[in-house]
Amino acid sequence: MKKTIILLLLCLSLGLPGCAGNPAQAERQLFAMDTVMTLTAWGSGAEEALAEVETLLFSLEDQLSVTRESSLVGRLNQGQTVELTPELTRLLAGTLALSQKTGGALEPCLYPVTKLWGFTTGDYRVPEPAEIQAAQAQVGRLHLDGDTAYLDPGSQLDLGAVGKGWAGSQAAALLQARQDVTGALLNLGGNVQTYGAKPDGSAWTIGIQDPAGEGLAGVLHLTGTWAVVTSGGYERYFTQDGVDYCHIIDPATGYPARSGLASVTVVAEDGLTADGLSTALYVLGLEAALDYWRENRDFQAVFITDAGEIYATAGLELSQCSYHTVED
Ligand code: AMP
Ligand code: MG
Repeated sequence: MKKTIILLLLCLSLGLPGCAGNPAQAERQLFAMDTVMTLTAWGSGAEEALAEVETLLFSLEDQLSVTRESSLVGRLNQGQTVELTPELTRLLAGTLALSQKTGGALEPCLYPVTKLWGFTTGDYRVPEPAEIQAAQAQVGRLHLDGDTAYLDPGSQLDLGAVGKGWAGSQAAALLQARQDVTGALLNLGGNVQTYGAKPDGSAWTIGIQDPAGEGLAGVLHLTGTWAVVTSGGYERYFTQDGVDYCHIIDPATGYPARSGLASVTVVAEDGLTADGLSTALYVLGLEAALDYWRENRDFQAVFITDAGEIYATAGLELSQCSYHTVED
């Protein structure tokens, strides 16, 4: 009896896994989808669950990578007609739906243009206007016919704007199905997926990076399972002749988006929605993005302007910053 009490006290103070009141914690880091991912989970199955999440993330990378010829995207881009799993059908159908809802601000077939600027290869350059025009003419359509997908001839898909958010949701679904993980925080290179609850029951605190500096612009407080995805020009850009060119392209012009926004963070139940919208709303700019929010209430968002002003939709709670709350 005495021994048990001492062991219990030890476990509590050292935070050892598996002890009463202190669920097992597991952590894993991996490099996938061109980014460092840090996974943390709590619960009796945490260790095994994160191993499964890692396998899932690598397999999604295999399917979604634009630079792998054998991937789903690679095969579509070679002009093949591809049979899809039900999951991939949902991903492509959901992406097409978001593209339509955002008036084409999210454009899944933008690869001819993003490739030209070097954003997928790291070979950055400012293309000539004629090259941009030619690349834009190549932006065709993705067709879905039941579980079959194909592209217009010469057209090329780039799922970089939705892949990580989708992956986060898939990972959360995996954890949910296992039922032996009580909470998890999956940081997929700045795209965050929360799952369940923290061991102490407190809210998840998620920092929003200051687009103009090293620190945080503010901190979000959330409870439960959420996708929290940020798009920002600062995440990937190059500078030529004193001008910054960011990796988010306005499909209407073929040039990097300059909408007055420095970053957009979207919080949604669904990762595809969060990721797709973070990119699209960045392209649209604050006014159009708020109109979109008022018409479609399936997400909340934080907008940071180039001038450093922060706007948060009414459903969110932020700390460590002053911000404008956007109401109806
Ligand atoms: P994100 O970081 O989620 O905003 O996605 C940006 C990535 O998506 C870029 O690196 C491009 O590969 C691709 N992309 C850039 N602009 C767009 C756009 N307007 N619509 C769809 N994909 C885009
Ligand atoms: Mg995105």
